[in-house]
Amino acid sequence: MKDFVFDLIEQEKVRQKEGLELIPSENYVSPEVLEAMGSILTNKYSEGYPSFADLDKSDKEIAEEILPNSRYYGGQVNVDRIERLAISRAMKLFHADHANVQPHSGANANEAVYYAWCEPGDKILAMNLAHGGHLTHGAPVTRSAHIWNFIPYGVTEDGDIDYDELERLALSEKPKIILVGYSAFMKIPDFERVAKVGKEVGALLMADMAHVAGLIAGGVHPNPLDFGFNVMTTTTHKTLRGPRGGLILSKGKVSSPLRKPEKTLENIPTLIDRSVFPGTQGGPLEHVIAAKAVAFGEALKPEFKDYAAKIVENAKTLADELKTRGFVLQGGGTENHLILVNVEKSYGFNGKIFEKALDMVGLTLNANALPGDKAAAFRPSGVRLGTPAITTRGMGKAEMKKIAGWMEEMAKICKDVPSEDALSEKADEFEKIHAEVKKMALDFPVPSIK
Ligand SMILES: *Cc1c(COP(=O)(O)O)cnc(C)c1O
Repeated sequence: MKDFVFDLIEQEKVRQKEGLELIPSENYVSPEVLEAMGSILTNKYSEGYPSFADLDKSDKEIAEEILPNSRYYGGQVNVDRIERLAISRAMKLFHADHANVQPHSGANANEAVYYAWCEPGDKILAMNLAHGGHLTHGAPVTRSAHIWNFIPYGVTEDGDIDYDELERLALSEKPKIILVGYSAFMKIPDFERVAKVGKEVGALLMADMAHVAGLIAGGVHPNPLDFGFNVMTTTTHKTLRGPRGGLILSKGKVSSPLRKPEKTLENIPTLIDRSVFPGTQGGPLEHVIAAKAVAFGEALKPEFKDYAAKIVENAKTLADELKTRGFVLQGGGTENHLILVNVEKSYGFNGKIFEKALDMVGLTLNANALPGDKAAAFRPSGVRLGTPAITTRGMGKAEMKKIAGWMEEMAKICKDVPSEDALSEKADEFEKIHAEVKKMALDFPVPSIK
């Protein structure tokens, strides 16, 4: 008998097919990305790195060239060329001097940068988690927060970075790293302004673009590396639409990872390579790196520009439609793919109830705190949603209107529900909406799911 796991995968296919994915950090990969990820490359050990020479050549030349490597195992002839393709494409996509494609996740990528540049106890200036920053930017529950001293900056009333506060803290605290990155922030950061501050205090300028990397790749969002930033980390599975994983891009001089270079900003590419392996990880996931290479190849195509533009267009439409229907949005709207709804202020109940209720009708999103939220972490006042996944399915203006309409209907039903447990009493009222969601979802197939 086939393992139960495959049964559950089939059930998950149905869930993905019949529901709408509004979690802004999720997406649907192409059949080619999926195929590379599920390949026999998982059988191979390849600790170390391929050659970093001649990466500005064409894909075909890189695929044909066999160069000496700095790996710790034999049999690298094919994985070397695959990893070199991934590196070369990532560098082109993000205008970087170097790319490390080995981080297993966004969290690993961030920690590898901190470890490459900072000594224990050094200061890192980063966005407050409660204001839209990320757990890996110094939340007390993380290992990073035990090693380094994170200093948080926040956002202003209108939802933009408090640049004055950032500048003040940078000048007084002299951090080793200034980090711009977030998972619930709807504006386009002023990279130029932050870079100026960073240069003044001699900090490493780091951007964690995990959420918006696909928008940067598609040319609808500025690239921090074009504005004097030294390092950009990202996940590969959010707007970038690749396999789950991390990526570190950097500016500077690339040299052999076998020798420890002097700790200078110019040497940051090599400091990072050594920090990823052997500093914080073991063998790379070459099947995932192959899938990253395929995804970067897709992102370099002209069609990806249209996709990225459409994500933002859909987010703006959805934000406007939600506002029309009485929803109060953090920052008043969006300039990227993210929307943060203040459910408490709009309809008088918490974000967790709304998350659970919407899940019951096939609309998946997550409860999220708002800046200055007094409510507990698992009962936050808002919900966060976004358009990358539904845009991949080909949805547009008409569908955004429908989604906003369902959210309004649901909010009106949920208004007088005292707790999540009481939601089951509303099941009958949800049924009509659930059927409508499912019908629309089936009209827009998920890539790779029949
Ligand atoms: C998603 C995210 C990460 C973490 O990525 P994982 O792959 O889940 O470890 C890091 N930083 C930001 C800003 C993110 O949004």
